[in-house]
Amino acid sequence: MSEMEQTIEKLKGLARDSWSGEEGERRAERLEKYLRAKLIEYSEALNTPQEEILRAWEKKRDYSAINYYQECNQPSIQPGKVRVFESVGDMLQAIGEKKFRCPACGGISTDPYQCDSGKKVKKKTCDWKVYGFLGDLGKGIHVFCKDKMRGETIFMPVSWESSSVTVES
Ligand SMILES: [Zn+2]
Repeated sequence: MSEMEQTIEKLKGLARDSWSGEEGERRAERLEKYLRAKLIEYSEALNTPQEEILRAWEKKRDYSAINYYQECNQPSIQPGKVRVFESVGDMLQAIGEKKFRCPACGGISTDPYQCDSGKKVKKKTCDWKVYGFLGDLGKGIHVFCKDKMRGETIFMPVSWESSSVTVES
């Protein structure tokens, strides 16, 4: 049995032991289904072997498997809407100056998650949050750092805006 299969079996065991009887078995099956789908998705998006991804997740996991392997910790990577970096350092370098476009007011925020542009929207200072209910309004970007095996959605860095502008002839 490969290292990856052994790990999946171990995780299923943990899920099974988290509840007695049939419910335990259901949890184990649900975890396996979730894991395999996520591993395929991440492996393809990141061009990285599944074994490596699972190893990185397990290294980072410091609480129960059932709670760790959840959509909030392994969010979907949408092809075309994600930029992948080897490390957080590489990402920060690519962003450059800390200026991010707020999707709500259009102002420039120094915070990539919550608008601090100071612009007023309906007499109220904008404090739009990318993690709020309406998220990035489809205008942000998902950045993924391979060293952390984790991605998140942020306001679009101003330095990346020009690359998405369509040149009209
Ligand atoms: Zn704003």
